[in-house]
Amino acid sequence: MISTVEALSPADMGALRKAIDHELAGLFQELAMAWQEMHDLTRSQGQENWLGTHLADVGAEMEQQQEVAARINWVESWLGQCKDALARMEMSVYGVCVDCGLPIPFPRLRALPTAVRDIECQRRFEARPKDEGCADCLMSARFVG
Ligand SMILES: [Zn+2]
Repeated sequence: MISTVEALSPADMGALRKAIDHELAGLFQELAMAWQEMHDLTRSQGQENWLGTHLADVGAEMEQQQEVAARINWVESWLGQCKDALARMEMSVYGVCVDCGLPIPFPRLRALPTAVRDIECQRRFEARPKDEGCADCLMSARFVG
């Protein structure tokens, strides 16, 4: 079993943790802003509907709302990945590839502190057929025959 300690020096680990903390702080801010925007949009939409605004305006606002919703989704999923990375640090499994178990090279982690695979495994992971590797699909395929 390869431990994180062999792969990353405490200084490297500290720098990565700092990078993730920084990213998290930014994301929380972004999320708060997006929610505020969503709140404002929903509220103004309610008022305008009440006042009988043109449908075109409502359509534009709905588009805006979808855009904000998409942004919220994106920020939340990115937040989740950052939190996962911190959790992996806590459990001392950070910086180890989930597929091959080898340490992820520091330059890759520095570029993407939330990485869970080394580049080779990531490439293989992204190139895999879509219905392979998904536990649910594999399980259901098992039950069909
Ligand atoms: Zn790997």
